[in-house]
Amino acid sequence: MTEDEAGALEAARPELARRLELCRDLPSPPGVALRLVRLGEDPEADLDEIVGILRHDPALAAKVLRVANSPLYSRQRNIDNLRQAILLLGLNGTLTLALSFSLVPTLRDGGRDGLDHARFWRRTCLGSLAAQVLADRAGLPGLEDAFLAGLLQDIGILALERVEPGLYAGLGPDAGHDAIAARERERLGTDHAAVGAWLLARWALPARLRRAVARSHRLAPPQEAEDLQGLLDWAVAGAAVVAGAWIDGDGPEQGSEAVRAVAAAIGWDGAACGEALERIAAHVPETEALLECELASPEELALLQERARELATARSLHAVQQAQQIRRHAQALETRARELEERARRDSLTGLYNRAWLDQMLEEEFRRAESYGWPLSVAFIDLDRFKTINDTYGHAAGDTVLRRIAALLLDNSRETDIVARYGGEEFVLLLPGSGRRGAQAFCERLLAACRAAATEVAPGRHVAVTASIGLATHGEHQRYESPDELVRAADKALYAAKVAGRDRLVVVDERR
Ligand code: GH3
Ligand code: MG
Ligand code: MG
Repeated sequence: MTEDEAGALEAARPELARRLELCRDLPSPPGVALRLVRLGEDPEADLDEIVGILRHDPALAAKVLRVANSPLYSRQRNIDNLRQAILLLGLNGTLTLALSFSLVPTLRDGGRDGLDHARFWRRTCLGSLAAQVLADRAGLPGLEDAFLAGLLQDIGILALERVEPGLYAGLGPDAGHDAIAARERERLGTDHAAVGAWLLARWALPARLRRAVARSHRLAPPQEAEDLQGLLDWAVAGAAVVAGAWIDGDGPEQGSEAVRAVAAAIGWDGAACGEALERIAAHVPETEALLECELASPEELALLQERARELATARSLHAVQQAQQIRRHAQALETRARELEERARRDSLTGLYNRAWLDQMLEEEFRRAESYGWPLSVAFIDLDRFKTINDTYGHAAGDTVLRRIAALLLDNSRETDIVARYGGEEFVLLLPGSGRRGAQAFCERLLAACRAAATEVAPGRHVAVTASIGLATHGEHQRYESPDELVRAADKALYAAKVAGRDRLVVVDERR
């Protein structure tokens, strides 16, 4: 950021900034939001900490899960637990989303001074939806920033209502966004965009969000192709125009006109505008549910979809039907392929993932751990003196024990862990997001579970087997060059566990 947007208000209107500073009644973020902001600043923060915060707020957690399952995030399976959701959304994405939802009560708590707060809230909700869709269509990664900046872009209004009683008096209940901003400029020489940025700085929210809010009244295309901040600024300012036209004007009809005008700024054609409109229409119900507000009636949504189709004139009816047929066919094929693929991933004796799939997942999880900055632990497990079980009770009994241990590993692991049979009586577990301490406790639990489990190999004959485990963690204190090297380290630790007497865990010494 070249200019300090947060300091802009202090420089331009020092006396207003001072009054805001002293105001005891400013909108303020709830405790959860403060904890999330702090976590966002902590480079050491990990998955488990976010899970911990979200667990304490079931409503927040439910919303994050809901977003993870929304069509904006492509996925193949249903995300039904928080760890999966976070792995999908990424650490930053989850933090930003959780922060968005935790700030909602602050934004809804209005109604001071003659302004229509129901309208304010609808404009805000639509603004955050439109910002997300514009950002996504324009190729901005991480839609959560656009969502949060969209939510916060008008928060300056709430602050100004409190610090300047009577500021909006006489504007009338129909006053739209532009009339509000005009009144602010007339009376204060600045507007709520600057005040919003000031407030965000006070809450220690990231600079990129502050800048998007500061520029939310200045619609301008990004300077260059790779200008991600410029894209975010454009999406947020564009969303303000769309939401203003929709809520203050005649509804979706004007909103769709506004989308065209905004999109023209970055050179979208009719098809692209149509697609953006379609997406807005598609996500209205989702957004209404998430933010608890009413944006459009079914008739208005239908109208919006119609406008979207008109814009995308390139697509004829026939083409649409054909596309539908092809899509259905492709879906059937995809389902079949997925079933086959799933079978090819499994080991036939235990039902665990096989070696080939493990190798693939290892590559992937290693890459994800790198890019999201969370740890990846690998546990290499080998059953102790397994040969004697075969020798004593027969191979079939050995198989039964292997199946039992496989079930035990699955029962004790999380859904996001990858549990694989490496070969013979060897297993490898990938624990994405688990640091050394957590993984160590987990392995100790596995050892205890093995000890306690006796398998009935023949009527009345029970066999117990112990295991040795080697554990290596990538990403906390130790970084490995490659996934291979990480597994080798775990294997070496496993060997040390065998040499030291078996039935134990050896953790790779990370201080070296
Ligand atoms: P250690 O504690 O040193 O690991 O001793 P161990 O006997 O477990 O190790 P070793 O590697 O010498 O023997 C592994 C045995 O596991 C040998 C093999 O017969 C048995 N095994 C491998 N795959 C299977 C299988 O699919 N079914 C059965 N029943 N046994 C298997
Ligand atoms: Mg072995
Ligand atoms: Mg063995």
